[in-house]
Amino acid sequence: MFTVKAVNIKIIKDGAEQVVNPSIIYNDDEMILVDCGYPDTIDQFESEAKRLNIDMNRLNKIVITHHDWDHIGSLRDFKERYPNAQIMSSAVQAEYITGEKPSLRLESLIAKIDTLEGKEKDFAAQRIEIIRSVEDCQVDSYVEDNEAISKDGDVVCIDTPGHMPGHISVYVKSSKTLIAGDAMNVTEHGLRGANPLFTFDMEEASRSIQKMSNLEIERIICYHGGEYKNNSQVAIKRLADKQ
Ligand SMILES: [Zn+2]
Repeated sequence: MFTVKAVNIKIIKDGAEQVVNPSIIYNDDEMILVDCGYPDTIDQFESEAKRLNIDMNRLNKIVITHHDWDHIGSLRDFKERYPNAQIMSSAVQAEYITGEKPSLRLESLIAKIDTLEGKEKDFAAQRIEIIRSVEDCQVDSYVEDNEAISKDGDVVCIDTPGHMPGHISVYVKSSKTLIAGDAMNVTEHGLRGANPLFTFDMEEASRSIQKMSNLEIERIICYHGGEYKNNSQVAIKRLADKQ
């Protein structure tokens, strides 16, 4: 049986605290990390793991849901510190993670920065700078919809495009746990769909929510907002009905 834990990784930006929630999935045999935080946060990640009594030296796989900077910011550092960890993503996303294609987020920010003013423009400019600072990283294997991520097949990939093309989520069958990446968010208003401000295709994102709502679900962990605390199955069905 796999244990799934969400880790809090924090940075202070523009005077405000921002938090993301990479997840660690582990049993006696394997340890799988889903997304890996902002740039330069690997030390923070390691101390969080230590606090949770997780021995990161057992890390053998890193799954990347998509190439946004807050998900792959520390990926190269992880690969350097844990060279035996195999990096997995969708084939679509791998092209951006490896740098074969320029970041979609970078391109969209560059395309709209001249239409922005004041604080928003400064914010976009800062984003562009951060995204440019993220180092490319190799991807060792591609995962497809329903394909096993863990050796025993209990942890699988679910294609959930919309937020970005090729975005994937991770589902742990035995504990009915869904790690949704940015396909959903937990906010002060509860479980929500992909954030429209940062989503490339809202219709596709809606279809992905409907697809996820057909899974048996006990736990949902979102990258932004962390674990949903109420009845997850009811909440995702309700969210799917609203799409
Ligand atoms: Zn994202």
